[in-house]
Amino acid sequence: MKITAINTYDINFMQKRKKQAVNKNHTYKKQVIGALGVCFIGIGSIILYNKTNILNQKIMTENDKKFFNNILKSLKKNNIDAKIEDLKSIVAPDEFKKLIKKYKPEQFQVGMQISEAKAQNIPLEEFYKNAIDGNFRISLHTHSNFSDGNATVEEFLESARKYADKVAKLNKNDGLPPFTIALTDHDCIKGCQEIIKIIAQNPEKYKNLKFVSGCEFSVQNGLIHHDITGLALNPFDETLLKVLEDLANNRINTICEFLDKQPEFDGKKIKYNDLVKYEKEYNASHNKSKRCVENGSGIVAIRHAIKFYYKMTQQDVNHSIMNKLGDKDILSIKKVIKSIKNNGGYASLTHPVKSFWEYIGDDFLTNLKILGIDGIEVNHQYTPSKITKLGKNNNNISNADNLFKEITSQYKNFAEKNGLFLSGGTDSHKKQIFSRQPEITKEILEKIYN
Ligand SMILES: [Zn+2]
Ligand SMILES: [Zn+2]
Repeated sequence: MKITAINTYDINFMQKRKKQAVNKNHTYKKQVIGALGVCFIGIGSIILYNKTNILNQKIMTENDKKFFNNILKSLKKNNIDAKIEDLKSIVAPDEFKKLIKKYKPEQFQVGMQISEAKAQNIPLEEFYKNAIDGNFRISLHTHSNFSDGNATVEEFLESARKYADKVAKLNKNDGLPPFTIALTDHDCIKGCQEIIKIIAQNPEKYKNLKFVSGCEFSVQNGLIHHDITGLALNPFDETLLKVLEDLANNRINTICEFLDKQPEFDGKKIKYNDLVKYEKEYNASHNKSKRCVENGSGIVAIRHAIKFYYKMTQQDVNHSIMNKLGDKDILSIKKVIKSIKNNGGYASLTHPVKSFWEYIGDDFLTNLKILGIDGIEVNHQYTPSKITKLGKNNNNISNADNLFKEITSQYKNFAEKNGLFLSGGTDSHKKQIFSRQPEITKEILEKIYN
């Protein structure tokens, strides 16, 4: 009995110890598992932070991840070894869709939009007030010298970067990136490739900037010519590159055919390469650097070439030939929208007021929507001369400003009713990103950058 009692005690004691040991072991295991868990969550968060926080603290979608990985592959082919984090300034399609909805109309504008008549006696500062105050936050329409702009991609990027840094210093705290800009050269995406290459190699320098790859396509839509802007494109995509390369070659062929038909000048035939050389010399002496003839880029390529031909041969421009040939090589609207969609980007109707000089009507826009457009550029920065032209074209110059507001709001209403995003931009063709007209001065530019 005694033994049994002792044994019972021993057994009880031992069982108690064992239980304690097991419990302790459990607690220990729990602590280890807990600590490991915290560790994993910690490491996971860091990885997630590095990979996704770069895009406004939001989780990157699979679609955007694919977009970035494709760009990384293309960069590698160009001997640039970059990581996904190095592309934090590049706006991917899904991010673009979210971002574009956040902007107010005035954030697309550098300042005033009024006719020439009204513009008289208004200080230049007013035209650039939003840019001077840092309230100009996004431009989804600009050109470089890959088409008919005068900025090299380096000049373009430096202007955008300086402005983005100025806005960042103002600490707006409104959840928007300091500054977002797209490059949308006419029928050309090669400038966007160059910009992504520059940013990927020095991402820290462009930390306040968001860049959207784009392209302004000239399209044939029935009997009407107008423009469609592609946004959030992958500019390295070979299918889209091929479409644009074929188009550029067609334009260069049209120029060559035109030249073949011309008589000799000074005892010799003028060739396409003579025009390219002339374009370079002419630009060098006029502080310009557009390369439309050289790149065959944009609907203006043929017009520029023909103008240069007549200049070289000291003749007046034959406008009927220029207009006839100028519109010869244009992509169909269906092909353009299909190319944009296959690339993964978004299609927007470009500056409708400037393209149609009226409200083109619900039917036309509904048709565009069926074809697949996603947005309308209702916040385009129209210059004073374009608003005057709108008045002239409607035989109502004195009412140009009201007409402009009325027609613009009709496009805006259609977009809002039909769930299309509202796009906009400066359509800059100068060495800086802010304007075409009225001519910006050094003093104003200083105020904008500082
Ligand atoms: Zn242009
Ligand atoms: Zn443009």
